[in-house]
Amino acid sequence: MWVRAAHFKYLEELLMLEASDKIKEALKERAHDISRPFCYSDYITVEADKDGDYRCPRCGSDDLMREVEGVGVEWGYDWIIDHIVETEGEKVDIEELYRDLLDEIYEPIKFGELEYCPSQVLEAVDETAFRMGCNDNADSLVEDGQLVCLNGNYFRIEHLL
Ligand SMILES: [Zn+2]
Repeated sequence: MWVRAAHFKYLEELLMLEASDKIKEALKERAHDISRPFCYSDYITVEADKDGDYRCPRCGSDDLMREVEGVGVEWGYDWIIDHIVETEGEKVDIEELYRDLLDEIYEPIKFGELEYCPSQVLEAVDETAFRMGCNDNADSLVEDGQLVCLNGNYFRIEHLL
């Protein structure tokens, strides 16, 4: 039972966008800016009318999808946000990030003349601890608003930070 619940939680986390509230807000704004209202029944882009409202000129509906030119048409903003993260974000190697951190904060490990980087040592001696450290470090950068995590991959989006 416990394993099952944990498994679902894992899947849920994998299929979600994790980001600070500030970044989520910025992504939503950007998703709005790069998309336009679209009536699926009439298959047309809907421009604002003279009152600034978005209603389909043919069927009168205001229940509209969003269109991103050359990408697609769908309900809501989540798919556009995913698209922005994947296309405008730079994928981050969280292992490399963690190695750099370890080598920066700890002294090299020495055996007489032999000298090893802390990251090398941890990765070789306790790979599980190394992997957990990678994830914890990346997750704390997500909380700090320096990275976003989408479907288990980490990205840095310079112009949104
Ligand atoms: Zn319509």
